[in-house]
Amino acid sequence: MSKPVIGVTLFRREKNKSNSKYGTISCNYVKAVVEAGGLPLLVPIVNQPQDIKHYMGLIDGLLLSGGQDVSPEFYNERPIEELGEIDPDRDNWELKLFQEAYRQKLPVLGICRGMQLINVGLGGSLYQDIYSQLNNSLQHTSKKEETCAYHKILIEAGSQLEEILCCLDSLFVNSYHHQAIKEIASNLKIVARSDEGVIEAVEAEDSDQRFLVGVQWHPEDLAGVDDNSLNHNCFQQLFKALITAAENGS
Ligand code: MN
Repeated sequence: MSKPVIGVTLFRREKNKSNSKYGTISCNYVKAVVEAGGLPLLVPIVNQPQDIKHYMGLIDGLLLSGGQDVSPEFYNERPIEELGEIDPDRDNWELKLFQEAYRQKLPVLGICRGMQLINVGLGGSLYQDIYSQLNNSLQHTSKKEETCAYHKILIEAGSQLEEILCCLDSLFVNSYHHQAIKEIASNLKIVARSDEGVIEAVEAEDSDQRFLVGVQWHPEDLAGVDDNSLNHNCFQQLFKALITAAENGS
């Protein structure tokens, strides 16, 4: 059987001081998809809405990668001073990709910004900066390595995520985000939170009919880490679940 093709979205940044922009992606996303049995296909930011359906015809699943803050214009807020770097062209393109994937019930996994984008794409909103907008939020931006298990998350019993993550009720994850979901979209449910309540994972309200999972942490950076304290196999299971759903067509 041929491998399911997983579209992986790209981060766009200027290189050094040149005016040229580069589409980049951490190789850990690519590696995680490959090791889970998928065929990664990198999807550039092209802003050609008429080509969205063509792109969808090429892929069996969509992986929305991490990156800059989602521009608050997409959830009808004015930017606050603490907002980080934004790329509205990327937001616009990825929102269209996601919304078409959602319409077609294509399997989608969103990571960090990807989870936030899913929430915005379905009508939810974000904290533009958790440190200035959320009381008692522990430090979610780690100064440590990406492979560091930094804070605990509590996983919702009976969720699809619980099943994927080796049936654990809690797990230590890495954390380097300063934004988080504020109002959850109506078609999503919260399936993991940090100790003090920050939303760390979501899945589709109708998760029996589609694969749609978003996580605030970075499983791709933990999947290959050989550390017994990390349950690294569980992180790889997230990618495996995406590939399995892509093979099954939903
Ligand atoms: Mn966190």
